[in-house]
Amino acid sequence: MDDAADFLAQAAATLGERAFTRDPELVDPWLTDWRGRFTGAALGLASPSSPQQLSALVKLCAAHGVALVPQGGNSGMSGGATPDTSGHQLLLSLRRMDAIGPVDAEGRKVTCGAGAILQHLHEAAEAAGMRFPLTLGGKGSATVGGLISTNAGGTQVLRHGSMRAQVMGIEAVLADGAVFSQLVPLKKDNRGFDLKQLLIGSEGTLGIITAATLRLLPALADRIVVWAGVPSLQVARALLLHCERAVGDALEGFEVLPQSCLEKVLTHLPSARAPLAEVHPWHVLIEVVADASAAATLRDRTEAMLASAFEAGLVEDAAMSASEAQAEAFWLLRDSIAPAERAQGPAVQHDISVPVEKMPDFVTAAVPQIEAAWPGTRAVAFGHLGDGNVHFHVIAPPGVVPAAWQEGDGKAISRQVHDMVTAWGGSISAEHGIGQLKRDELGRLGDPVAIALMQRIKHALDPQGLLNPGKLVPLAPSPSNP
Ligand SMILES: Cc1cc2nc3c(=O)[nH]c(=O)nc-3n(C[C@H](O)[C@H](O)[C@H](O)COP(=O)(O)OP(=O)(O)OC[C@H]3O[C@@H](n4cnc5c(N)ncnc54)[C@H](O)[C@@H]3O)c2cc1C
Repeated sequence: MDDAADFLAQAAATLGERAFTRDPELVDPWLTDWRGRFTGAALGLASPSSPQQLSALVKLCAAHGVALVPQGGNSGMSGGATPDTSGHQLLLSLRRMDAIGPVDAEGRKVTCGAGAILQHLHEAAEAAGMRFPLTLGGKGSATVGGLISTNAGGTQVLRHGSMRAQVMGIEAVLADGAVFSQLVPLKKDNRGFDLKQLLIGSEGTLGIITAATLRLLPALADRIVVWAGVPSLQVARALLLHCERAVGDALEGFEVLPQSCLEKVLTHLPSARAPLAEVHPWHVLIEVVADASAAATLRDRTEAMLASAFEAGLVEDAAMSASEAQAEAFWLLRDSIAPAERAQGPAVQHDISVPVEKMPDFVTAAVPQIEAAWPGTRAVAFGHLGDGNVHFHVIAPPGVVPAAWQEGDGKAISRQVHDMVTAWGGSISAEHGIGQLKRDELGRLGDPVAIALMQRIKHALDPQGLLNPGKLVPLAPSPSNP
C-alpha cells in the first residue's frame, strides 16, 4: 500500500464511514467558493463530530504530511475555504459540530460548536429572550467557526464591534493535534498572552476552531428601520453624525447603497418594491433599537431624529418601518446586494476600509478614476459607512469572457484600488479576510515588519505548514526583512 492509500485507509478508520468520503457527488459541491472564483480539488472530505475525533485526524495528517483546509458554511468571500488544485489537500468540514447551548441568559452567554449556523444561533438566543449581536447577509450558511476565523463584521459592528468582540472563550485543535481549551469565560484574566485573540481572524492557518463561548445581550423590545434618500455620500456621513447625536446608543446600523445597487436588487427580487417613490443618488438604511426600558419612546425619538434631519437638509425623502415585516423587507433589499450582483456577471470586489471621516471623499475620487482608466466598467460602493468600510465593486464591461477578464483587467483594477486604499491610510481587507484572493496583495502592500511577525507565528504554531496552506500569510520574506 502506498502512503496516500495508507493515509486514506487510516483516515476512514479514524472517522468512520459517515465522516469521511471521497464520493465526488458529496465532495464537489464544496470545492468552489461562494463567488465562484476559485475551484480546487481534494483528497476527500472529512467531517469529524468531536474535538477528540478531529485531534486524531490532525495527528494522522501530521504523520503523513497531509494539509487540511477547514471549512464552515463556505460563504466566505476570499477563497479561504477552497483547497488548491493539487488534489493532495484534505477538505475538513466542521459542519457536524453544530450543537448550540443551552443559553445562559443570566450569564449572558452561550457555548456552541464551530459548525453552528449563525441563523440558528440567533433563533436559539431569541427563544431564551436574548440576542446575539452580529448579523450578516450570509447568516443562513455562515458558521460560528467561519465567523471567528474571518473575524467577520456585518451590519451591527457600528454599535457592537466585530466577531472579536463577541468571543469570550475558544476551543481549538492545533497543528500537532493538541486541544486548546479555553471555553470558560473570565471577565479578567492576565495569565499571559490572550491566545484566543491570536486564533480569531487567523483563517484556519493557526488552529482549527471546534467550539466557542459567545456573548449575548437581552432581546430587543422594539426596532425601527428607516430608509432614507440622500443626495451624496458626504451628506450620508453628515446624517450618520446627526443620528448618533439624536439617538445615541439606540443607533444599531447605518448602511449605504447607490441607486444603481437598489435597481440591481429590484431586478433580482421581482416581488420587492422600492421603499421610496423617487430616485435618489444614494440610499441609507438606518436601524434604531430599544430594550424594554426605552421601547415606549422609540418611535417618537426616531420621528424627532428624522424631522430634524429633514430640517437640516440631510434627507430628501424617508420611510419608517411600520411593522416588523416592513423592517425585514428593508433589510432584505440590503442583504440581497451580493446575490443580485453575483447573478449579474463578472465583477471584482474590494472589501476596503479607510478612516471613517475620509470614506465619502475616497469613494467620490475612486469611482471616476477607475471608470476612466477601464472604459466600460462601472464602479459601485455600498455597505457599512458607519465603520469606514465599503464594498467597492467594479463590474466588467458587457460581453467580456469572465475568467480572462478577472485574470487580466480584473487583477489590474484590484491593484489600483488597493494602491489607492493604502495611500489613503486604509486596509485592503476590512472584514472578509485575506484568504487566497488577497494574499499576494497583502505581501505587496503590507507592513514588512507585521508580515515577518505573521510568518514567524505561523511557523511556530504550524511548523509543517499543514493548516490551510496558501492562505492569508504571504509566502515570500519581504525585501526589507529577509
Ligand atoms: C450574502 C453574503 C453576505 C455576507 N456579508 C458579510 C458581511 O456583511 N460581513 C462579513 O464579514 N462577511 C460577510 N459575508 C462573508 C461570510 O459570510 C463570512 O466571511 C463568514 O464569516 C464565513 O463563514 P463560513 O462558515 O461560511 O466560513 P467559510 O467560508 O467556510 O470559511 C472562511 C474561512 O474560515 C476558515 N474556517 C472556517 N471554519 C473554520 C474553523 N472551524 N476553524 C478554523 N478555520 C475555519 C476557512 O478555512 C476560511 O479560511 C457574507 C457572505 C454572503 C454569502
